[in-house]
Amino acid sequence: MKKELHVAALENGTVIDHIPSEFLFKVVSLLGLDKIGNSITIGNNLISRQFGRKGIIKIADKYFEEGEINKIALIAPNIKLNIIRDFEVCEKKNIVLPSEITSIVKCVNPKCITNNEPMRTHFTVIDDKLITVKCKYCERIIAKDDIIIK
Ligand code: ZN
Repeated sequence: MKKELHVAALENGTVIDHIPSEFLFKVVSLLGLDKIGNSITIGNNLISRQFGRKGIIKIADKYFEEGEINKIALIAPNIKLNIIRDFEVCEKKNIVLPSEITSIVKCVNPKCITNNEPMRTHFTVIDDKLITVKCKYCERIIAKDDIIIK
């Protein structure tokens, strides 16, 4: 009931829910929310029975493209999206890890060309459950805990 009241406070926009608290500000920067003029409400360290502590972000008048939102699946695959129109949740979405990831991940291999030339990184997701990615250039395999988001 409490949660419904929270969501209802938004007339139009997106609610990003179930963000692990330690990644809340990472999600903010990955989505560039620190650079847009929309009104944004952020709650963090809220108690969630399912996840321990969680963060929630409500963004007024903003709907994300799939490619834009799916990049946060890399750090928090359980995030839920509520799409709000006219104060109602009109759609609930799970985010999906893309099969290819460009730009946002840094290769851990210091000799990799992407660390030595001004170019975008490119990774293939080789395991979408464990979240393991492979650099397209040097073929280094990086496990979830070693993934560095740029
Ligand atoms: Zn590499």
